[in-house]
Amino acid sequence: MYNDKCTVLEWYDDWMVRSANWETKVPAVIMLKDYVRSKSMVRFSKSNVYLRDMYKCQYCNTPVTRSAATMDHVQPVSKGGKTNFENIVTACGPCNTRKGNKLLMKPMYPPYRPGYWELVRKRKQLPLTVKHPSWNQWLDLEPV
Ligand SMILES: [Zn+2]
Repeated sequence: MYNDKCTVLEWYDDWMVRSANWETKVPAVIMLKDYVRSKSMVRFSKSNVYLRDMYKCQYCNTPVTRSAATMDHVQPVSKGGKTNFENIVTACGPCNTRKGNKLLMKPMYPPYRPGYWELVRKRKQLPLTVKHPSWNQWLDLEPV
């Protein structure tokens, strides 16, 4: 905002920040003036693995919360398994423990690197906490 790189669409009515010689309301919704190209390569992260698997254990299909979910190496690290999209699935605690270092349990689907738009589409199907209600009109979410 200070460098004129964005347009403010909505402001918080009740939140000001101040420095010695400047004060401003805090923006709630901003629009960048330069288009930010969406990345075609999705970064490997816990959140993106859980999202690809729609927060379901890939062994027993039980829904898991973010705090209960674990990342499971299909090919165990001890057997040379890598930590990447192709070898990690979402697992509930009990399945992860049960599997241990055994190779007998197989996930329902072979893990794969998800696409950007696939994750966007999946994220829209999950509940979303919006920090400021003025965001809703910009998000293009399905009515719940
Ligand atoms: Zn499970």
